[in-house]
Amino acid sequence: MLDVNKIREDFPILQREVYGKPLVYLDNAATTQKPLCVLDAMREEYLNVNANVHRGVHYLSQQATDLHEAAREKVRAFINAKKTEEIVFTRGTTEAINLVASSFCESQMKAGDEVLVTEMEHHSNIVSWQLQAQRRGIVVKHLPITDEGLLCLDDIETYLTEKTKLVSVAHVSNVLGTINPVKDIIRLAHERGIPVLVDAAQSAPHMKIDVQDMDCDFLAFSGHKMYGPTGIGVLYGKEVWLEKLPPYQGGGEMIDKVTWEKTTFERLPFKFEAGTPDYVATHGLATAIKYMESVGLDNIEAHEQELTRYCMEQMRSIPNIRFFGEAPKKDAVVSFLVGDIHHLDLGTLLDRLGIAVRTGHHCAQPLMDRLGIAGTVRASFAMYNTKEEIDILVAGILRVAKMF
Ligand code: PLP
Repeated sequence: MLDVNKIREDFPILQREVYGKPLVYLDNAATTQKPLCVLDAMREEYLNVNANVHRGVHYLSQQATDLHEAAREKVRAFINAKKTEEIVFTRGTTEAINLVASSFCESQMKAGDEVLVTEMEHHSNIVSWQLQAQRRGIVVKHLPITDEGLLCLDDIETYLTEKTKLVSVAHVSNVLGTINPVKDIIRLAHERGIPVLVDAAQSAPHMKIDVQDMDCDFLAFSGHKMYGPTGIGVLYGKEVWLEKLPPYQGGGEMIDKVTWEKTTFERLPFKFEAGTPDYVATHGLATAIKYMESVGLDNIEAHEQELTRYCMEQMRSIPNIRFFGEAPKKDAVVSFLVGDIHHLDLGTLLDRLGIAVRTGHHCAQPLMDRLGIAGTVRASFAMYNTKEEIDILVAGILRVAKMF
């Protein structure tokens, strides 16, 4: 199905050692490593094509523009959007959510109106709305979760009132790994005429996304979490919504005509892309998508699901282990604590064994409060991880636990 050894050859960093131990990289929810083809594509563009995109009449500018716009088409097809006009390049998920928060709240909401998020959101899907709450008097509500780490969907109808103007929800939790039933949430919200933003930062790297099937109004993801470069991400928005929203930032690229009296704006999606875009990174992202497609999204998903299942199963043998997030539908993330060992101590000692995991609140402090903990240790998987690496992790945890 998926030849992990062959895939690993495409990621030279996986061959390196840390502290004299082979690197076991299990911090993929934070960022993934990059395959050679992505690095080569970007190097090649800087070496042979580099020129600023759009409106240039010269050869290089047109070639760079072609690569940039081909990347937009690649992204469109990847998430099955209807049109490239619906694909806005941003710096990442965070900027994409901030764009919607700013433009949507400015044009579609008034003081007292509500945005509904959930208790398991990343700070980027909380604080972006809180900033608008401070500025415009809108209200940020959150849907609670169960002890297992599932959304309390039975209650959702009480949260969707005539004051609710937008729902913004993570597709997959970066802490719990829970795969949320976004299609059901979108249907319930749409029955009441409420649009939905899906934070796909932790789902786009792991599963096939189809925005038309999902019927979301907005969707955001980051290139660096899916084998692409840092500093590039995507906001998908239904054309009807993007047409309604005002620009997020002003500058070059996003205008139609500027005079002292009046400025008019470019057509979609350029209205939302002020300034020189990271056109080399968009080409890198498109190359990463091609790479994922060559491995096969279904193969990636099946492999990572199996790693997640195997990891949970093996870890159950560790005395006093506590898991955070035991949803039946769970993906690529395992958060845990062992006895009363502090997450930072566990992470630091695992690091000495060459194992890279993340520790702390994972940019989800309200979720930590709900769970009554300060932080967790989190192992997260990508297509290049192996069961042997999970065995090394489990042996490492047992070794650290013995020291305490
Ligand atoms: N949303 C979720 C669920 C995430 O896991 C992350 C990053 O970890 C983000 C948003 C923010 O992504 P970025 O920092 O790439 O903008």
